Amino acid sequence: MPITSIEELSKLIELSDSEKDWKEGKMGSLPLLISDHIASMLSIPAIRRQFVPSYPENTDETGDLDPQEECLHEKTRRLVHRYHNRAAFLVTDRCFSYCRHCFRRRFTGSLQGPASDEEITEAARYAGNHREIGEVLLTGGDMFTLSDERIGFLLDTFKKICPDVILRLCTRAVAVYPERFTEDLFAIIRKNQKGAPYYLMTQFNHPAELTADAIAAVKGFIDLGIPAMNQTVLLSGVNDDADTLIELSNRLLYNRIKPYYLFQGDLVKGTQHLRVPIEKGLEIERKMRLELSGLGMPQYTIDLPDGGGKVILTENHLIEKKGRDYVFTTPEGGTRIYPDPIS
Ligand SMILES: *Cc1c(COP(=O)(O)O)cnc(C)c1O
Ligand code: SF4
Repeated sequence: MPITSIEELSKLIELSDSEKDWKEGKMGSLPLLISDHIASMLSIPAIRRQFVPSYPENTDETGDLDPQEECLHEKTRRLVHRYHNRAAFLVTDRCFSYCRHCFRRRFTGSLQGPASDEEITEAARYAGNHREIGEVLLTGGDMFTLSDERIGFLLDTFKKICPDVILRLCTRAVAVYPERFTEDLFAIIRKNQKGAPYYLMTQFNHPAELTADAIAAVKGFIDLGIPAMNQTVLLSGVNDDADTLIELSNRLLYNRIKPYYLFQGDLVKGTQHLRVPIEKGLEIERKMRLELSGLGMPQYTIDLPDGGGKVILTENHLIEKKGRDYVFTTPEGGTRIYPDPIS
């Protein structure tokens, strides 16, 4: 049985004062929900910190509940069209475990439930009618909290109405509830594999999350020919050191999951204690780049507040331009000049 209250949690682990003092229902708070799979790993500090709530969530005065201003870009119910060539459909607000760093707290766990038939059809029509949209992210919440039958309806509707749109299947369930990924579920996905491809978008934040079961769940997608990409959130006390993230990236790559983004924490109310200073993030990014292959290196990215959008954070190597000459620093600390072609 999943854990849904501090009382149940206190029977399983010795809670700190800060964890005991957390109160549900405060501004910026998410429900408490921890799957059996995650509950069995709470002795690992990096897991505990991501799933066990604590008092700083209740007192955080920084940030807001919708820093991406997604509400302003909602074009049909639950369809956020923020970037001209791709859109995000919030399939459901539910997850198998709630991550304390969740950036979509305005919506996640809000008891709105799964999208209706009409909402799904409306979103697919919008994507089909806007030829500039090449990709739709099926996200939430976690789309795999839907029943097999509802997932079948969702995929079938998008494939019928906008077959040329690439669908990103965004899920944390492979990490937090791998038993969801049954043969029956994969049969439904296989049946709806026509037109544009699927991409699996996972969220693994720490190497300990890559359990044998989680890897097997991802493999189910890869065996269907679906490429897997991972998004990691940079989190204080979880993965804010280069060695942890280098190990994570190497293990992801080994399991055929491409490290895609490393996100700076969004300015979401209730998550300040989990955010990492950007200067530290840049230093981690620099060390990762020295140790990882290009294939293993995620893009360190910040989603700017007030709906500013995503931009890449990386060490700047272009230091000046003198006439035709661009002056660069090398990763080892040297200098090189690259001249523009003579016109
Ligand atoms: C991040 C995001 C996307 C996808 O952006 P990519 O950079 O292509 O991964 C799409 N829509 C919204 C609203 C997003 O926040
Ligand atoms: S799985 Fe995703 S949507 Fe759900 S709580 Fe975690 S970060 Fe938020």
